[in-house]
Amino acid sequence: MTNAYKIIDHQYDVIVVGAGGAGLRATLGMAAQGLSTACVTKVFPTRSHTVAAQGGMSAALGNMGEDHWTWHMYDTIKGSDWLGDQDCIEYMCREAMPAVIELEHFGVPFSRTDEGKIYQRPFGGMTTKFGEGPAAQRTCAAADRTGHAILHTLYQQSLKHKAEFFIEHFATDLIMDDGVCRGVVSLDLATGELHRFRAHQVVLATGGCGRTYFSATSAHTCTGDGNAMVLRAGLPLQDMEFVQFHPTGIYGAGVLITEGVRGEGGYLTNSDGERFMERYAPNAKDLASRDVVSRSMTMEINAGRGVGADSDHIFLNLQHLGSDVIDKRLPGISESAKIFAGVDVNKDPIPVIPTVHYNMGGIPTNYHGEVVTLRDGDPDSVVPGLMAIGEAACVSVHGANRLGSNSLLDIVVFGRAAAIRAAELVKPGAPHKPLGESAMDPILGHLDRVRDNKGETRTADVRDRMQRTMQKHAAVFRTGDSLSEGIDKMRGIVDEFEDVVVNDKNLIWNTDLVETLELENLLAQAQTIIHGAHNRPESRGAHARDDFEERDDEGWMKHTLAWTDEKANVSIDYRPVHMYTLTDECEVIPPKKRVY
Ligand SMILES: Cc1cc2nc3c(=O)[nH]c(=O)nc-3n(C[C@H](O)[C@H](O)[C@H](O)COP(=O)(O)OP(=O)(O)OC[C@H]3O[C@@H](n4cnc5c(N)ncnc54)[C@H](O)[C@@H]3O)c2cc1C
Repeated sequence: MTNAYKIIDHQYDVIVVGAGGAGLRATLGMAAQGLSTACVTKVFPTRSHTVAAQGGMSAALGNMGEDHWTWHMYDTIKGSDWLGDQDCIEYMCREAMPAVIELEHFGVPFSRTDEGKIYQRPFGGMTTKFGEGPAAQRTCAAADRTGHAILHTLYQQSLKHKAEFFIEHFATDLIMDDGVCRGVVSLDLATGELHRFRAHQVVLATGGCGRTYFSATSAHTCTGDGNAMVLRAGLPLQDMEFVQFHPTGIYGAGVLITEGVRGEGGYLTNSDGERFMERYAPNAKDLASRDVVSRSMTMEINAGRGVGADSDHIFLNLQHLGSDVIDKRLPGISESAKIFAGVDVNKDPIPVIPTVHYNMGGIPTNYHGEVVTLRDGDPDSVVPGLMAIGEAACVSVHGANRLGSNSLLDIVVFGRAAAIRAAELVKPGAPHKPLGESAMDPILGHLDRVRDNKGETRTADVRDRMQRTMQKHAAVFRTGDSLSEGIDKMRGIVDEFEDVVVNDKNLIWNTDLVETLELENLLAQAQTIIHGAHNRPESRGAHARDDFEERDDEGWMKHTLAWTDEKANVSIDYRPVHMYTLTDECEVIPPKKRVY
């Protein structure tokens, strides 16, 4: 079937795959530095999941009270449950302030204080004075549509700098040649033609893989395609077992209600009307870290104190805030609650439940955005020609648990860092080395294999079984037994993929093929999540084991690296956490008990 593809060739200095906040920040940065840059994206740029980010972006500007980036660094390390790399966290928190100001100058319409400064709200886990002071107001917001504002601004800036876009192009595989990444291949969804992009750097900015689970706040496009391309290239993913459940997804719909609601004074109650977070986190209460709040909600429900007919969810109250605050600071929330829960937030609480929200794990990188692997036992060896940024990447700045508003920060800071690095590594217009003869074989072979599948099982049915299995067996609380059962089920589901039918008899041919390619990608990642979780006998951040309730720093303060083979069998190794800083302007934060 290979000859059925028409292949169209392109050459650029850099190719960015993905046009979310991370991809666009990198694209504009590369283009602005004179590199010929193209961005390949499966959805129109401003439809990327970043558009849905509501609450805001953290930076220790100190506009609404005393603040310092080293306090932000402390909170992020504690939030990460000491799995984050401290040099990278230092970099992110220090760069946060110039990154926000730069966004403002690009045109992001941040909300304002009365004096005209950027408005900042409290967010979970954000404190002052190394956890000793009051809650920090650190999260810069454009009402409750911060991601929307950032994404539109970055797209306009990218166009201004003459970056080129290939829109509704589905990237399928990296072009790897002798351990070096030399480009990427995409499928034009409108025509079915293949495009071969040669580049000196390929930057994966393809977002998270929330859709491995049944109920997720992430868009249906969040299938972690870049992560799966990396696995197919024989490279590992890092810390995939760490999946964040956001405490407040709308019950039944999965749609997000931002943590900003609790930042503005909203609170959770159980069936007794009790503000139960006061028991679990006496200081931070409803603004404890997300993993802590999600676990507390789950324990309340398990203890029979859930609300609703089946006592299986929790109420989020914001009636007391008054319509002034709600209209000014949370207009989108009122709308979501009305549409997806039928609730008028001025009168009634919103029914919520912990919902899959964010992947701390992803493609391992250093703080320049370069992909690292464990070659020859060196935990920091770089893969030439390949970068990863944003939710697809694992720098790792979020470790075992990300703090709210640190992801918009991550995508902007590391999108920019990748552009700076690329300009150092790539000479504009440098010629491309001819590809080895067999470099395209695995890519075309892969496409043929999926496209020619002529079994009897529907893609959607396999996806549904995978999502339900992950939701049941790799959830907020995990046990060895339940994970083992999940692993057995997943093996069967992965094997079913060979019997999937790709419908090529009508106009939806490309959509069907793409959904099947996405499913294959999700299956490989689900495998790394559930195996990573099974292999880690401790509780750390978002990974909570009922059978190993304590964190084990001696045995397990290390990053998981997971590889898959063609049948999505998983093999695992580990690399050390960076317990050092970049400069002497801050100190390493040694592990201690994590209480809020
Ligand atoms: C509902 C919601 C609210 C959130 N709110 C906040 C918040 O307030 N603050 C915060 O800090 N974080 C928030 N987050 C997290 C944060 O928004 C995301 O982690 C972040 O926006 C991810 O950005 P990204 O650029 O990495 O990926 P995305 O925005 O997901 O973009 C991925 C891009 O990759 C492209 N792509 C994917 N696969 C392919 C392929 N095969 N071929 C070509 N292109 C491809 C897509 O077209 C898209 O352009 C929120 C997340 C959600 C789901």
